[in-house]
Amino acid sequence: MGITLCPKHGRQGGPLCCRHIIDATIRDPAKPASPLSVVHFKIDVLDDGTELSTCAICASCASEWGIAAGTILPGEYMEEGRLPWIAPTCNRCFAEFLKKLEPVE
Ligand SMILES: [Zn+2]
Ligand SMILES: [Zn+2]
Repeated sequence: MGITLCPKHGRQGGPLCCRHIIDATIRDPAKPASPLSVVHFKIDVLDDGTELSTCAICASCASEWGIAAGTILPGEYMEEGRLPWIAPTCNRCFAEFLKKLEPVE
């Protein structure tokens, strides 16, 4: 969880997202979200299970960086260059974005 400044909702915490998800949620929410699909995973920041950072990246970033949905990555992944560029998003915008997505069967 990080904190971001949402143009609509002010200071918000939310999952860490790749730039494509952030574009679709905060910068340009009017744009249809499909065919973006979201891959959720976590980073065990301190490697002891006490602080799990939630991340949500698009499917193409996930396949490019070899990240499987639902995985828990060790804390070293917080280092620069181990993951696609990610930044906190707004929880409320992200929830709306998820509602707009086509259900994946
Ligand atoms: Zn992406
Ligand atoms: Zn927002």
